[in-house]
Amino acid sequence: MSKWLSPCLFGLCAALAFSPPTSAAQTEPPWHADLAEIRQVAGMIPGPRPLRVNVIKFAESRRTKNFAVKGLPAGPSVQARTAYQIVYADGTIMVDTGMDLATHRFFGRGVEEPYFPEAEARVARALQKAKAIVVTHEHGDHIAGLIKSPSFNELAPKTVLTRAQLQTLINEPQMPELRPTPEMASRFRVIDYANAMAVAPGIALIKAPGHTPGSQMVYVALQSGKELLLAGDVAWHMDGVRLNTGKDAPWIKEPAELMAAELDWLNGLSRTETNLSIVISHDDDQRRAYIEQGVLGDGFE
Ligand SMILES: [Zn+2]
Repeated sequence: MSKWLSPCLFGLCAALAFSPPTSAAQTEPPWHADLAEIRQVAGMIPGPRPLRVNVIKFAESRRTKNFAVKGLPAGPSVQARTAYQIVYADGTIMVDTGMDLATHRFFGRGVEEPYFPEAEARVARALQKAKAIVVTHEHGDHIAGLIKSPSFNELAPKTVLTRAQLQTLINEPQMPELRPTPEMASRFRVIDYANAMAVAPGIALIKAPGHTPGSQMVYVALQSGKELLLAGDVAWHMDGVRLNTGKDAPWIKEPAELMAAELDWLNGLSRTETNLSIVISHDDDQRRAYIEQGVLGDGFE
């Protein structure tokens, strides 16, 4: 400190004093999150915290595991397509919205992959019942169940989208069918935030652009004291988090430095935070294990 102050005593070098020797932009990490801050944000809205989080699998995709975790053998692997229901004593909040059969077929690229209409119908009913809806990101397998819902006009006013999510849907949707009309877009609750944002008791959204411009993670602190982190598509399998190794999926355009920073944060949490369960949207092995361990409830209420 004194090194910088001493030549500036006479006010001759204010600019120098406030310019670090190297550019701050070069030394700042491309992305970072702070679990202590996230916990504090999740406590900002008073009220009883959620009781549990449920998961449902409404479809599968069959891609070999090397796409999800670079360098792993290209053996057969099942990717679950999922949505989550956060349950309070007096209502529910949905994270992600399922998708219709047409969107499912878009992802299959001509290959018939498993789709579970009964589970999708339960997602649709859960959206109807929910008090609020958020999405981890603006891809079809997470948001088509809302955009293409026959009940869109009822669901949109209780859906909280980030500005980045809505802008991407309008300007660069994953598929043209996801683009809302201006009239549809005007019905959403749109928010913008830096780092982390409270949405309900025990819940914080965590800004995590990379997989898509509007990607975010959802932190949930339950009444029991247990914590969950719905990580969306930052990784496609928990092995990617454990090995701190990204995807190898050339068709997904992700800024590498953002993804590496987010994956590294999750990797650190997975090693140090024994009370926190990281939930990977598409990891079917983890989904089954978490249901068995009671971390996630099986199906919606
Ligand atoms: Zn996805």
